[in-house]
Amino acid sequence: MSTTTPTPDVAPDVDAVVIGAGFGGIYMLHKLRNELGLTVKAFEKGGGVGGTWYFNRYPGAKSDTEGFVYRYSFDRDLLQEWDWSTRYLDQPDVLAYLEHVVERFDLGRDITLNTEVTAATFDEDTALWTVRTADGAQLTCRYLVNALGLLARSNMPDIPGRDSFAGRLVHTNAWPEDLDITGKRVGVIGTGSTGTQFIVAAARMAEHLTVFQRSPQYCVPSGNGPVDQAEVARTKENFDEIWHQVRNSVVAFGFEESTVETMSVSEEERRRVFQENWDKGNGFRFMFGTFCDIATNPEANAAAAAFIRSKIAEIVEDPETARKLTPTDLYAKRPLCNEGYYETYNRDDVELVSIRENPIQDITPAGVRTADGVEHELDVLVFATGFDAVDGNYRAMDLRGRGGRHIDEHWEAGPTSYLGVSKAGFPNMFMILGPNGPFTNLPPSIEAQVEWIAALIADAERDGVRTVEPTQEAEDGWTATCEEIANMTLFPQADSWIFGANIPGKRNAVMFYMAGIGAYRGQLAEVADAGYKGFERQEA
Ligand code: FAD
Ligand code: NAP
Repeated sequence: MSTTTPTPDVAPDVDAVVIGAGFGGIYMLHKLRNELGLTVKAFEKGGGVGGTWYFNRYPGAKSDTEGFVYRYSFDRDLLQEWDWSTRYLDQPDVLAYLEHVVERFDLGRDITLNTEVTAATFDEDTALWTVRTADGAQLTCRYLVNALGLLARSNMPDIPGRDSFAGRLVHTNAWPEDLDITGKRVGVIGTGSTGTQFIVAAARMAEHLTVFQRSPQYCVPSGNGPVDQAEVARTKENFDEIWHQVRNSVVAFGFEESTVETMSVSEEERRRVFQENWDKGNGFRFMFGTFCDIATNPEANAAAAAFIRSKIAEIVEDPETARKLTPTDLYAKRPLCNEGYYETYNRDDVELVSIRENPIQDITPAGVRTADGVEHELDVLVFATGFDAVDGNYRAMDLRGRGGRHIDEHWEAGPTSYLGVSKAGFPNMFMILGPNGPFTNLPPSIEAQVEWIAALIADAERDGVRTVEPTQEAEDGWTATCEEIANMTLFPQADSWIFGANIPGKRNAVMFYMAGIGAYRGQLAEVADAGYKGFERQEA
């Protein structure tokens, strides 16, 4: 259906611009163009579609959500026609899937690749957005949708001597296609989800791997392995129930979260449950499927942490390496999983350097020099140092709403939003995975947001609305809700990207709605059913 109405003021070049062509941007483009009949242009900085899965080509890159729920659910045929053969999806598989979606829905003709949006400004006189790109071009639109990615802006620590390194220095989020680490002396800084995945894969490829670890990690097995086609067929038959469960769950990972409190059972039973889930694999399952309070109750958290620590002691043969690998803090970062992470340190060609105990002094042309004076000679140095998460890509643009106010001025105390999808002072602008969106397996949350934004725009189009935007009061209320929920958990007590603690100088702030996808979808529905409560509309 075409619901396009004449613009109240000046005709824009297109109805809508979508920035980014990952999971979020691809679906938003489909929804606005193919279903609402709007004219839409999408811009993507990368040389291909896929977002995360275009850029993160490092050895070992894969999903840690199981493949059957790391996908879109919006189209029944698409769900049925795309198979998987391993429990988790390797990077090339996710990329191929997203490329397939783009082709299947004929989206490529409206996506301009290799084009970074440098500025987006709202003009109050015309009620239009002007979008400028790095090549100097500009176009106007009524609706602006930012699908910039929440883990998409690389964090590249400024370590002394960084640019003097004579070998290849790369960030995992910009892995060059021509880089093969086989037979090379490789160093890696960072042991988060990315670093641990890379370490397991790189150990098998490199001549020697040196791991520079700042914080040890709680890592559980992923249980990765082949999935036979009979299981794929069974899963496909049950997709209706599976997606119903996912959409109404907490973390949307395709398993039932536990409702049992950790300390309500005997020590023996606790260990049995932890072992059972250790054997099944998956980080979110271990944190949320074993007991219901590991992320909220310090005693429960300590029990889970102690179990993982006992596994490190069992697995790692060298006691000194085991000591360095053993975390002593809370188990309250995004839970990660990997097949054979701790086992990797039993290899002779893998060396662990605790840079907390023996800091990096500088990077030299030959490698990395640590405080003990040792120069670790390397051919390749990998920064697995993560992301300026959530708001990083927003602040990188010259993004200005009403009164020409820059997004940084609005977000001085940390990034905020109404419902994770909209921002006061930024009319007709929407965000996918904006600040204070849900903390879950992300494709189901992306779908919820895209569908909700599209419905709101369809309504505005039908009614010939000039602008629609949330009130500051609604945004403040949502921020307070997110803070209240986050403070009921242990997550704020651990330093990680979830609260911006990984970037020097970044102000710590609550950046997620942590009550789960079911509750989040409920909030979205309630707001829509109440005539978009919290939004102000200016009629044409
Ligand atoms: P992205 O895929 O990040 O896409 C955003 C796009 O916007 C990028 O292509 C970027 O180039 C583009 N862009 C940004 N700014 C501009 C600009 N100014 N101009 C033009 N283009 C711009 N999540 C899970 O739930 N489960 C997982 O298993 C999982 N695994 C992951 C593995 C890795 C290695 C990483 C890094 C992340 C993983 N994630 C996972 C998180 C993942 O980012 C999301 O699941 C999902 O891919 C996000 O999609 P998106 O479209 O929102 O963002
Ligand atoms: P991350 O979790 O932020 O980890 C970054 C690592 O780099 C940490 O070990 C950190 O140490 C270290 N580091 C950062 N700055 C450093 C510095 N200046 N000096 C030394 N070490 C430094 O980033 P990530 O591993 O890329 O993961 C981010 C998120 O992306 C994940 O939580 C997940 O959501 C997603 N992801 C998922 C997968 C998957 O399994 N499917 C894979 C990759 C990414 P500290 O801990 O001490 O800060």
